[in-house]
Amino acid sequence: MAVMILPYPNEITLSEKRRLLQESDLRLEHDDAIEPEGYRLEIDAHDAVLASSTDAGRFYGLQTFRQLQDADGFVPLCTISDAPRFSWRGFMVDSSRHIQTIDEIKAMIDAAAAYKLNIFHWHLCDDQGWRIESERYPLLHTVGGWRDGWGFGNPNPEKYGGWFTKAQIREIVQYCADRFITVVPEFDMPGHCSAVLKAYPALSCTGESCDVNTEAGVFSNVLCAGKEETFDFCCSVLEEIMELFPGEYIHIGGDEVPKDGWNNCPHCRKRMQDEHLANAEALQGYFTTRIARFLRANGKTPIGWNEVLEADLAPGEIVATKWWDPKGLCDDFANRGGKVIMEETRHVYLDYNYQTTSLRQSYSYDLLPDSFTDEGKRNVLGIEAPIWTEWVEDFKRMGYQVFPRLLAVAERGWTNEPQDYAGFKARAEAQRDALGARGIEMAPYAEWDPED
Ligand SMILES: [Zn+2]
Repeated sequence: MAVMILPYPNEITLSEKRRLLQESDLRLEHDDAIEPEGYRLEIDAHDAVLASSTDAGRFYGLQTFRQLQDADGFVPLCTISDAPRFSWRGFMVDSSRHIQTIDEIKAMIDAAAAYKLNIFHWHLCDDQGWRIESERYPLLHTVGGWRDGWGFGNPNPEKYGGWFTKAQIREIVQYCADRFITVVPEFDMPGHCSAVLKAYPALSCTGESCDVNTEAGVFSNVLCAGKEETFDFCCSVLEEIMELFPGEYIHIGGDEVPKDGWNNCPHCRKRMQDEHLANAEALQGYFTTRIARFLRANGKTPIGWNEVLEADLAPGEIVATKWWDPKGLCDDFANRGGKVIMEETRHVYLDYNYQTTSLRQSYSYDLLPDSFTDEGKRNVLGIEAPIWTEWVEDFKRMGYQVFPRLLAVAERGWTNEPQDYAGFKARAEAQRDALGARGIEMAPYAEWDPED
């Protein structure tokens, strides 16, 4: 019998028999023997039990129950014993290049929760806009939140921008908490900082003003790593961010940092000399380490994109996000004891078109490749997929790009062994109506695997 459960449970026994059953008929049990996010669902002719050791496990059991139930309210008699493969099952939304409404963010969160994802990485600032209200540095959002024109090829010359108020951010954090999702905010530094430097140009090496960018790319507008005021600023803003986001993790970016400015800056050169740093890569290592230690001193765990590993960081300093890592820095880092999140471009970059990254490629992502030793594999926290929004102007486009590929991410993060791909595709297509009810329009089935 075909059951359309997604992600597919790790142990499931199904009967042909069905019975009418409501969610409220489930007898909830506490069982300490069940893994923290796991659950057991036992439905026979007389009884229906949902057991878990945590509220999160109960929540995931309910998601499975809802998918088991047919339109008439019947569910198959079954025994399901289930728990996730990885503790990190994430999705990232870029709210800088294009901003979303609170309702759109909530719709994404609802969909993610239904498929048992548990991390919402929120990319809140970049060269094209700062999106967090700041009381200490209000020009961040009032100036850095706006760009001249819509940009990215859209000829609309009107100013484009906006930001999330602290009240809105708290609302989203609570919304996620109610669905057992941790929000991981990102303040990308020291690169991708055009919006910051438009607001506070004194934090750059030259002190010269720049524009909030309207095009995609890597820009030379980076924070000066020589000036002490840069660290004061970053730590002060991070204090505001920590007040808003109670979760354990804070992402500090660290990707794509052009070094020319640092090499030509008297402040940065002095810093390299004073700290005995061999070159600008080592200066970024100094920057990363200093910010990371500040976060750790405040009880947080810092995360950076894999470029932070260009400097030789100790495994305990930071968690690395593996996105574009031709040198295998993350593999080596994990093998030495560092924690890594798998987020590689050709498998799970959801902004790529389906010709470049088909659903099959997402589903076939090997999260524990042989370049990781046994210890390295134990240090893989899990999987995450980003939707970068340079070319995702509206929510309709976001739905098309994200689904069904995020369903592949959800299943690979949860289910121990990949299921048969044809079966997965059928279960993914079966989610179309449920996603549609959330206002999310999945890409047409015929476009999922252009090569087939
Ligand atoms: Zn400098």
